[in-house]
Amino acid sequence: NYILAIESSCDDTGASVILDNKILSNVVASQKIHELYGGVVPELASRAHQQNIVPVVDQALKQANINKAELKAIAYTRGPGLMGSLLVGGSFAKSLSQSLDIPLIEVNHMQGHILANFIEDANADKPTFPFICLTVSGGHTQIVKINDYFDMEILGETIDDAAGEAFDKAGKILNLPYPAGPIIDKKSKIGNPTRFKFTKPRVDGLNFSFSGLKTAILYFIQKETKLNPNFIEENIDDLCASIQHTIVNILMDKLKQASDQTGIKQIAIAGGVSANSEIRARLKEGEEKFGWKAFIPKFEYTTDNAAMIAIVGQLKYERELFADKTAKSVAKYHI
Ligand code: ATP
Ligand code: FE
Repeated sequence: NYILAIESSCDDTGASVILDNKILSNVVASQKIHELYGGVVPELASRAHQQNIVPVVDQALKQANINKAELKAIAYTRGPGLMGSLLVGGSFAKSLSQSLDIPLIEVNHMQGHILANFIEDANADKPTFPFICLTVSGGHTQIVKINDYFDMEILGETIDDAAGEAFDKAGKILNLPYPAGPIIDKKSKIGNPTRFKFTKPRVDGLNFSFSGLKTAILYFIQKETKLNPNFIEENIDDLCASIQHTIVNILMDKLKQASDQTGIKQIAIAGGVSANSEIRARLKEGEEKFGWKAFIPKFEYTTDNAAMIAIVGQLKYERELFADKTAKSVAKYHI
């Protein structure tokens, strides 16, 4: 049963074809235009989705070596995300399912990030229930307990900025282009992670806060550049490494706390920030240090992609969880 999946929640247009947990194609058109503005411009994002959607879907079908008449269902990202972006993929998916007379399947983008761990080639082993997932992306930072595919509990989440936002906003202060996360990761590899210290936020329970860190970085940089206008350029690698180390420490502390509290030792990561090499290394380290079993998905399934929507589509198809004719996109969508 071939299923086509469409992702258009933010600034990446994605299409993917799945057959029995196996991804046959995973096409993503990233929108370069937003770099010029230092962040995603919603109006430009929806226009670019409209431009990209047909070629991206065509390519996904072509790479999977199938004809659209062979499709058994269409899955699409219902939310959460930017409304103008969601509407493009949603309307396209709905029309295509109507014209082919096949079921439409609604997918929660955040469930997609988590369930990407179940794609056949995402991981060597698959987690068993219950497991804990640290979902870290551009808009979310959550510790989720997954009791079953569609039974998830949020144990903790950010009360302000997301981890990805913390990377991107710190990058902006350091004059790095958007999105800064991958660049900070790269520069951190040659920087000293303990050279600059930033205080950790005090947040109760398993919740996170990153807005204080952003302010601390801003004040620190303002103070230092007053004394030395070239401070950023001269210390960029150490700055990146120290900021990354601080963010990862905050995430790992709470993850450890969640594991201790629940007694669950199967730990997965998901979302764009889970592409980060320090997070991946620290999770792996947890296997020796804390007796964890770590699930670290392949890179291409971490940042926004349609393969993660396809795996959820497949799981819902098997359970006949189909959308009705009045299906609509939603900007906010709880897992
Ligand atoms: P959401 O899923 O919450 O709606 P999103 O879809 O925009 O948000 P993703 O595509 O999952 O977010 O992730 C994008 C974020 O991941 C950006 O903030 C980016 O900087 C960050 N990111 C990507 N690669 C890395 C990396 N190697 N290290 C740190 N951050 C990274
Ligand atoms: Fe995402």
